[in-house]
Formats: sequence, C-alpha cells, structure tokens
Amino acid sequence: MNFHRIVVATDFSEESLSAMETAFDLTLEHANVVFLVHVIEPFVPNDPIGGLHPSVLAMNERALEELKALVPENREGDAEIQTTVLCDASPSKAIACFAREENADLVVVGTHGRTGLTRMLMGSTAESLLRYSPCQVLVVKCRRADARAA
Ligand code: AMP
Repeated sequence: MNFHRIVVATDFSEESLSAMETAFDLTLEHANVVFLVHVIEPFVPNDPIGGLHPSVLAMNERALEELKALVPENREGDAEIQTTVLCDASPSKAIACFAREENADLVVVGTHGRTGLTRMLMGSTAESLLRYSPCQVLVVKCRRADARAA
C-alpha cells in the first residue's frame, strides 16, 4: 500500500524523531507531500481580539525553526516537505483535524511523547489519534527507548 499525503507528528521527543525517521524510510519513495507537524499546547487562553499571546507566538516561531531543522537534506523521491505548527490544547484532535483538512492518507506518530500535565490529564496522543484520525495511523515503537527501559 502506497501513501501519498503523510502527516508526521512530532513533539521533538526521541520517540517521535525515531517515528519520523521510520516514516521517511518507509514512505518517501511514493509520497507526494509530507507534513511535519508540531502542536503547541497553549498555557494561556487565546485573546479573541488580540489573537495569539506573545509567548505563544514565540513558541510558534521556535517550533517552526525546529521543524525546519528536521527536514532531511539528501532524501529519496520528489516529496515536498511542509512544516506546520498548530496551537491546540488537544494535540490528537488538532492532528486529526489537520489530516482531514489536508486529505492525508497516513498519520505517523511515536509510541511515547514528552510527559507533562496535558499527558497526565489527556492520556496518550497516539491512542487518541487512533480514535479521531480520518485515515490510517502508523504508531512507531522506538527501539532505542525500549532498550533503555529494559
Ligand atoms: P503520547 O501518546 O502523548 O506519549 O505521544 C505519542 C506521539 O504523539 C509522540 O511520539 C508524537 O509523535 C505525537 N505527539 C505527542 N504530542 C505531540 C505534539 N504536541 N505535537 C505533535 N505530535 C505530538
């Protein structure tokens, strides 16, 4: 099965970077476009008039730079790689919504991500994506992290 429009979601954790490498290895030959996506989980509410809070804007810019740095230079195939930062309290819903809007046929995530308050409250992004995603989800196990845990 070939996938052409692929969303790779990263929280910049080792697990998600490993998932990204796997996604590139498996799909780049046939992909037309790969969306590298990070979701900022805002800790300050959005001002409906003033827009995004300056601290969120700064996080947005930093995340965009980090995403751009992840784009491999020497890659196989002709896939276009796009970088996108979303802002939402629920990464899984934001990723699923983005995948729907972009008509993606595959979403790739790691097994674990960064831990934090949201993770404690919301549970697993990977698990939740399986419920909300409009398309196939590839959940990649990080061998390095598993080896360390053993
Ligand atoms: P989790 O289930 O929350 O431990 O995270 C599993 C995977 O979901 C991570 O390895 C990432 O691929 C993805 N993920 C988690 N949080 C985010 C986020 N804020 N932005 C983008 N991807 C995320």
